[in-house]
Amino acid sequence: MTTFENLGLAPELVRAVSELGFETPTPIQLQSIPLLLESPTDLVALAQTGTGKTAAFGLPLLQRIDTRKRHIQALILSPTRELCMQITRDLEAFGKHLPGFGVVAVYGGASIQGQLKQIQDGVQVVVATPGRLVDIMQKRKTILENVQIAVLDEADEMLNMGFRDDLDTILSYTPGTKNTWLFSASMPNEVLNISRNFMRNPKEVSSGEKNVTNKNIEHVYYVVHARDKYMALKRIADFHPDIFAIVFCRTKIETQQIADMLVKDGYNADSLHGDLSQAQRDVVMKRYRNRSLQLLVATDVAARGIDVDDVTHVIHYSLPDEPESYLHRSGRTARAGKKGVSMVLINMKEIGRIKMIERLVKTTFTRVQLPLGNEVCENQLLSLVKKVHNVDVNRSDIEPFMPAIYEELSELSREEIITRFISVEFNRFLDYYRNSPDLNAYGNNEEFSHGGGIKMFLTLGSLDGLNKQTIKEFVAKTAGIDEAQIPWVDVKNSYSFVEVNAASVEKIQAAFKENITYNGRRAQIELRAQSGRDRDGGGRERRGSGRNDRGGDNRGGGGYRGRNDRPQGGGGDRNRRGGDSRPYSGARGPETRSSNGGARNQWSKPKNDRSRDMSGPSTTNNFAQAPKNKKESLDLSAELKSIFEMDKKELRKLEKNRKGN
Ligand code: AMP
Repeated sequence: MTTFENLGLAPELVRAVSELGFETPTPIQLQSIPLLLESPTDLVALAQTGTGKTAAFGLPLLQRIDTRKRHIQALILSPTRELCMQITRDLEAFGKHLPGFGVVAVYGGASIQGQLKQIQDGVQVVVATPGRLVDIMQKRKTILENVQIAVLDEADEMLNMGFRDDLDTILSYTPGTKNTWLFSASMPNEVLNISRNFMRNPKEVSSGEKNVTNKNIEHVYYVVHARDKYMALKRIADFHPDIFAIVFCRTKIETQQIADMLVKDGYNADSLHGDLSQAQRDVVMKRYRNRSLQLLVATDVAARGIDVDDVTHVIHYSLPDEPESYLHRSGRTARAGKKGVSMVLINMKEIGRIKMIERLVKTTFTRVQLPLGNEVCENQLLSLVKKVHNVDVNRSDIEPFMPAIYEELSELSREEIITRFISVEFNRFLDYYRNSPDLNAYGNNEEFSHGGGIKMFLTLGSLDGLNKQTIKEFVAKTAGIDEAQIPWVDVKNSYSFVEVNAASVEKIQAAFKENITYNGRRAQIELRAQSGRDRDGGGRERRGSGRNDRGGDNRGGGGYRGRNDRPQGGGGDRNRRGGDSRPYSGARGPETRSSNGGARNQWSKPKNDRSRDMSGPSTTNNFAQAPKNKKESLDLSAELKSIFEMDKKELRKLEKNRKGN
């Protein structure tokens, strides 16, 4: 295995990268670093963002400069202020063990004088956006005269953004003897022209094929009615309690509207678009970077160059006008070898556009279904239970409050206390999602799914010890059909979806009308509802009945809107447009049908919800508001009993895994 040391890097740089947690070089680093260290050369590198390209040029660049000399020896040009700051931060980290090393970021929107002063203080490296550097050069023409290395980062983006003339100007003020290293995610003719005009026999490296998206990105799309798009977005967010996403909209107005609606509904969201001042954009990016925000709603232009690690999902709320923009958008996830999901929300008419993008990015998209309410609830609840299980308890800080707490709870059993604590967050979520509609849009006769069959709901799941294969076997055997009649199974904890070829549906329905059991549990199967709007209520209730025999009620898996465990989420972090920035948590109200949806608002505060209003800013008083009435608490126990059945198993599994490790 090749290490950074083997690539010929100085010990100071090797130490810095290992402190950053880089263990092995990425492919683009493996190719570029030895080439650039070996001898002075020009380089053209085809590399997308997220591949480790900054270190690919940054490390050799730092090794080539002389930190005893206090003038500019290297220039890095980047398309956006955001990227410019990111590269500067990266270089500072890579160069932290190089005595005397200095780097300055030069970009618009900040004081020119301050930046000039920093340059004059004797840095060796300038990272600049082209426009601002040209402005600075009008004041000091000579600053680039000792440049030995010029890096053009994201050259295609710089040209897209109209920096062609600025690049020509800047490069013409650098010495002819310098080396130019060009990094670009694509190689259109304009980029190749730069390499022809400004470079001598450049060596070429590539981190992958042109226009091919990162293999670590899974591309999926949901088909929904246009009026349900916002609800679908929220359902996706609710289904992924730990989501950390960028939501792309098409226009500034749409971006602002969606962000405002999300904030109003209690999500930790904010917008990023060109109508915000630079200072506002900086605040948003800071909050996103430090994870005070979970959902960044952005336009394509504003999100250019965003370089934040661990983005779990890119959500295309609206498809971009240019299919190529899809590549740039989706490249914001799955960085540094991690996995990510790019999700597109479209209506029926837009399916053709997906096909176009598939051709462009040479990747197949999977059509997936939006989760149902009970699936969301189940995910949320398990997430909460895991958090409760894993939370670090600061005993000494809590100690002084315990006597009063014990006294308040003295009459309650252990199970009752757990029930109530969970209910504080969970009741509201359960209520909201209990009768939630199926948001998937189906075409004519389309009880769609993966293998083209009919989707059915089965009241058995992994908690019954079943997996895909054993479910197939069980259903096929019960109905007396061939297993091939069941092309697809999706196993959840307490229930499953089984896709069945149309010819076998009736047979299965007839067979399961009998009193079928599995390991003592009643097994029921039914058709998945066509659409929540058509079959709202009844269909949902029945579908959620997987735990009936355990829980004693017919409400099913149930759910919880988990509290955020992100450190910066709560507290005094206030939204700059005046909405309160609640922790991404139970304070959030789940889906509200948008007013133009024409349907009743299903999520208005339930009559019997004795806890705070769903948009209430604080969760601190919840406990005091837990129901005290005995009857009510018994009902709650019934409601939650089924869930604890699941949780105990889940916790035991966790324990087992831990011990195994
Ligand atoms: P870049 O393509 O330069 O924007 O890098 C994407 C992300 O990958 C950054 O967060 C880097 O810190 C990280 N990274 C770069 N090189 C490595 C490496 N060899 N191992 C692990 N992470 C890396």
